[in-house]
Amino acid sequence: MAAQLLDFTNAEQYLNEYKELDGIDIKTLMDSKTRGGMTYNDFLMLPGKIDFPASLVSLETKLTKRITLKTPLVSSPMDTVTEADMAIHMALLGGIGIIHHNCSAEEQAAMVRKVKKYENGFISDPVVIKPTVTVGEVKALKQQLGFSGFPVTENGKVPAKLLGIITSRDIQFHDDDSTPVSEVMTTNLVTAPENIELVSANEVLRSSKKGKLPIVNKEGDLVALLSRTDLQKNHNYPNASKSFDSKQLLCGAAVGTRPDDRERLTKLVAAGLDVVILDSSQGNSVFQIEMIQWIKATFPDLDVIGGNVVTREQAASLIAAGADGLRIGMGSGSICITQEVMAVGRPQGTAVYNVCQFANRFGVPCMADGGIQNIGHITKALAIGASVVMMGGLLAGTTESPGQYFYRDGQRLKAYRGMGSIEAMEKTGKEENAATSRYFSEGDSVLVAQGVSGSVQDRGSICKFIPYLTSGLQHGLQDIGSKSLKDLRQQVDDGKIRFEFRSASAQLEGGVHSLHSYEKRLHN
Ligand code: GDP
Ligand code: GDP
Ligand code: GDP
Ligand code: 5GP
Repeated sequence: MAAQLLDFTNAEQYLNEYKELDGIDIKTLMDSKTRGGMTYNDFLMLPGKIDFPASLVSLETKLTKRITLKTPLVSSPMDTVTEADMAIHMALLGGIGIIHHNCSAEEQAAMVRKVKKYENGFISDPVVIKPTVTVGEVKALKQQLGFSGFPVTENGKVPAKLLGIITSRDIQFHDDDSTPVSEVMTTNLVTAPENIELVSANEVLRSSKKGKLPIVNKEGDLVALLSRTDLQKNHNYPNASKSFDSKQLLCGAAVGTRPDDRERLTKLVAAGLDVVILDSSQGNSVFQIEMIQWIKATFPDLDVIGGNVVTREQAASLIAAGADGLRIGMGSGSICITQEVMAVGRPQGTAVYNVCQFANRFGVPCMADGGIQNIGHITKALAIGASVVMMGGLLAGTTESPGQYFYRDGQRLKAYRGMGSIEAMEKTGKEENAATSRYFSEGDSVLVAQGVSGSVQDRGSICKFIPYLTSGLQHGLQDIGSKSLKDLRQQVDDGKIRFEFRSASAQLEGGVHSLHSYEKRLHN
């Protein structure tokens, strides 16, 4: 006799009583002692219930104990990935860029300064000029600095008596370069008083319809400047990662752990650095521990991310030393041959899960670094405990990455190389303090490469690519049934989000298959 059918209206109630959920919890999934290490491709998450729009999914997350970002994306400190342009746009789009250190300390500090100067609330140290400066000199300053709104003070300093202002419109059609600015500047100025709140000053600037608003004290001395362009930037990039007070973009940079790196870091801090990453492929060293302790004692306002680590044991040393964040990954990078050459490393999924599970108990946020090939990998890294992901290869080849495009085999490409590749190290040979000290000791006479040098396809501007990643992430979380990254983590910890292994054939099935030909367009 056939089994009696159950009442379909009780299906959900039946499931609740049945207790056992489909799939497995994260602990079972990540049981590496019996199953071996996992990569992102080895598992999937099961779908949840959608009762909210993807656009409402919050991607807010912690980069370090004290720094919160609206977008969990970080660009890697590599000389083919992050210089000032990348760092500016990563911060505008809600993430952060970490400036590489395969250059002199001065060059690195100049890049940090450029990021910090890009957007401002009150510009507290505006470039000002003397009334005797000529129109030709103003034009040259514009070329050099990229802006041309200069307040004119008595002695060309701040604070000092404000005499007028000169802007691009005042000199646009002025052919005689020898004219002193005192003859062409505007003197009838709209100004605002010192101690005015930023919100009110912005209002004065808006209603004045001018490009700049000089801020003056009771004596009529210029003390600061406000720029209309910054209102526009704030409007255009509502998710930008900025300092609360100064409204300047957040900027990170990487340094090594050698004695010279302390001097380098001092210069970066003077340029306004917000967070430093100690760049080492094996972070659990006495050098790094001492460096963290020195930084915490010397620059208490600067957050420090230690790493790289892949085990809880490595993480524990750095957490105890005071690290405000950890960077996880060894050998998972797309340009990386560490596992092949050094015989050390760990599959990235297992590394991220184990380190995060440990570090998160101490309130230390973690960054999953390396091996991110697509949006799905980002979602998975965040689901198994990471607070942010760091990308190299995925951001190389964009308009904002360093280097020129070139063509090969009909494709538009940009160079992308490991910082432990021979090519990156040969650049280093000319300078001390280079990024590749990450991979080599000073005394090494033979260079053993831990990375390769190659190229990646043109990906267009990150102004389109990052929104593609974040939008995809929001849709991924919606499918899983999480309204925020915080919810995602909690639901995974509670065992509500379920996982499934992917066999080799499941992975084939999950990719495009059985077509004669196709074109893979990722976004419009
Ligand atoms: P928002 O209102 O969502 O932008 O919140 P914020 O905390 O970023 O901004 C608070 C106030 O500061 C608002 O009045 C903004 O117009 C102003 N503000 C934010 N960013 C900037 C900036 O870069 N420059 C200037 N001048 N004002 C800013
Ligand atoms: P300008 O009108 O030619 O001065 O240039 P914009 O208004 O287009 O851009 C000026 C940008 O540079 C703003 O985002 C400012 O916050 C930034 N900036 C940083 N430092 C200074 C400075 O010393 N003077 C001026 N004018 N802008 C600065
Ligand atoms: P621009 O659009 O970048 O050239 O600059 P502005 O909009 O700041 O300036 C347009 C004109 O207004 C220039 O001739 C300025 O010298 C003049 N101007 C008059 N009063 C003010 C003032 O209070 N602030 C500024 N920035 N410009 C003023
Ligand atoms: P990707 O996002 O391209 O997969 O990986 C980028 C990450 O690889 C970087 O953030 C860095 O941690 C790591 N990396 C960069 N250069 C090298 C290298 O030469 N060797 C190794 N082992 N790792 C590298």
